[in-house]
Amino acid sequence: MRLPVGFAGLETLDAWPRTPSAPRQERLEAPVDGLQGVGPTIARRLARVGLMRVGDLLWQGPRRYEAPVPSKRISELFGDEEAVIEGAVRSCSSRRRGRLQILTAQIADESGEIKATWFNQPWVESRLVPGTRIRLRGRSNRYGFAVSSYDLEGEEETAAFAPVYPSTEDLSQKKLRELRTQALRLVRDPGDPLRGSLRTLEHLPLRSDALVALHRPRSLAEAEIGRCSLAYEELLVLQLALLRQSAIREEASAEALGPPGALLERYRTGLPFTLTGDQERAIEEIDADLARTKPMQRLLQGDVGSGKTVVALYALLRAVEAGRQGALMTPTETLAEQHFLTLDQLCGSLGVRVSLLTSSLRAQEHATVRQLIASGDAHIVVGTHALIQKEVDFHDLAVAVVDEQHRFGVRQRSALVEGRSPHVLHLTATPIPRTLALTVYGDLETSELAVLPENRKPVVTAWVTEDRSSEAYRRLRRHLDDGRQAFVVCPLIEESETQIARAAEAEAKRLRGGELEGYRVGCLHGRLGTVERRGLMARFKAGELDVLVATTVIEVGVDVPNATIMIVQEADRFGLAQLHQLRGRVGRGAEQSYCLLVSRAREELTESAVERLEAMVETTDGFELAERDLEIRGEGQLLGARQSGFSDLRFVRLRRDKNLLQRAREAARSLEDGGPLADEVDRLLGDADHLGEH
Ligand code: ADP
Ligand code: MG
Repeated sequence: MRLPVGFAGLETLDAWPRTPSAPRQERLEAPVDGLQGVGPTIARRLARVGLMRVGDLLWQGPRRYEAPVPSKRISELFGDEEAVIEGAVRSCSSRRRGRLQILTAQIADESGEIKATWFNQPWVESRLVPGTRIRLRGRSNRYGFAVSSYDLEGEEETAAFAPVYPSTEDLSQKKLRELRTQALRLVRDPGDPLRGSLRTLEHLPLRSDALVALHRPRSLAEAEIGRCSLAYEELLVLQLALLRQSAIREEASAEALGPPGALLERYRTGLPFTLTGDQERAIEEIDADLARTKPMQRLLQGDVGSGKTVVALYALLRAVEAGRQGALMTPTETLAEQHFLTLDQLCGSLGVRVSLLTSSLRAQEHATVRQLIASGDAHIVVGTHALIQKEVDFHDLAVAVVDEQHRFGVRQRSALVEGRSPHVLHLTATPIPRTLALTVYGDLETSELAVLPENRKPVVTAWVTEDRSSEAYRRLRRHLDDGRQAFVVCPLIEESETQIARAAEAEAKRLRGGELEGYRVGCLHGRLGTVERRGLMARFKAGELDVLVATTVIEVGVDVPNATIMIVQEADRFGLAQLHQLRGRVGRGAEQSYCLLVSRAREELTESAVERLEAMVETTDGFELAERDLEIRGEGQLLGARQSGFSDLRFVRLRRDKNLLQRAREAARSLEDGGPLADEVDRLLGDADHLGEH
């Protein structure tokens, strides 16, 4: 469909009276379990799709909308077709087949009768009292009618044209829609950061109307107007933040570092491999940046396993060679520890001292490391966001590297740089199309590692169902017997970090007594102390453990080339980006590596779970997967679920929204230029700061 030029056309949405005095902030922040029909179980399921607060319900848009399908009389249904039928329930029964729960009901209208089927929705049974009138949307086939949604008499009509939200198999669309309706009623005034004059100028509907249009549209066109309006807000705020950032950058100056010398030469010759052409090019580009007095702002983009760390260390060593310091900031502790081990190993023979700073260090250790950083005795510091806390005072920071940078918001990224002006290299494994990179990161230069190191073979990926998981373990044992190592990734459960850890321990124990009896099995999870975790990783790296049973903490950064096989349990529960990251932990050496995705039976999976698993089997190309992920999930998620702050684009569809982006850019410029609305800027940024937390 065509992109609406303006946003006119929503004035008619008058069914939602606004009460300006509504205490919106409290209502937006209220936990979802305060809504009708949400107990602890449903609340947990909602949390799994990111819905914790009432505001989350409003700010998570649909994946897509169900197009209307023809209404038919039962006797008119013919072959395989989608339709809406209406009738009365005659009878109802349920049965099990394996883990599949099947509910069937006889539905009759004046023309005939048909057998309707629901899968895995046992709670529907008690509602299908004989005699009840019902509307069904679904697909007719030779067995009857497979129901995709339904409304009972008197319920809001959702069986025809309706939004489809991100969900899991134990969370029905009906529930998700109904909760949106409740949220819209509860929060009639969701706040509005744009002042009236700007709204008028841009022909934007009020935010509350846009949200209604998004969640309860009467047509696709209306839904698109709502989405565009919300996307425009996001883009405007993002562009304002980027303008501010680049203004700060323009004024900043850094010391030029001169050409590389003997230390870098020793580093290169010490590497056990030759650099790829792409790595060489990236290094050249970095050298050119470092020779200037304008601080480097470069994005190094490369798929998992493409060899970004080697390049990053090069940049850090350039600082050390100049007698100054380098810092590497990572989003997680495990990743910081991993990088620390790798860097420490590579730097030992160069006489370069590397320190690790994370917030889980004991107070005493923390102080010691801070002292090393302040005195300059630590040449390179690896750490989490602990690095950007106020009390950390670098002696002379020259180069900062930010790893997996999409996980940090704009705010956190700039905190590392504030008050100093080091050269900065950003690393990301998420392939970001050029337009998106520009939008989200502003005027960063980009270097790309497009070609993987030569000896690399693509990981062979297979999808097997649970009933064949013993075969998967047999295959894994063969690798272990050949002297290789393996990962087993535990299911993603919705519980707390402590419960996740407990479940992982239990699984490791079960495997030690079962499929992996006689092998050395370690267990890695987020609840281990620093010392334990570091020890565990070091032992796995040294080959003293055969298998690492792990939660998703291994998702990024773990680098053990001898690990050649991975089993992911209940793989259907993971997101595509997450699966791709996990798979990147194998295939890091010259050996052929394997990734075995284990899931429940196909008919028990959601539509999108099947799409994800199929995509993983079909390709190892991160770009391709990112594209598929876009299709399956929508664009805003591309940058990673945990991302926060300004770069959180929920409603933007960049490929579709080029015009919007242009408009937002122009508007942002005119706002910053001190036009009549200049004082709007701080308020917008302030409000967005707040929204980023949703
Ligand atoms: P990324 O951080 O991009 O996921 P890494 O930097 O961790 O990738 O590199 C992955 C693996 O490839 C590491 O074991 C690293 O030592 C190795 N590696 C890096 N560059 C090369 C190269 N040019 N040739 C061979 N192996 C390489
Ligand atoms: Mg890496």
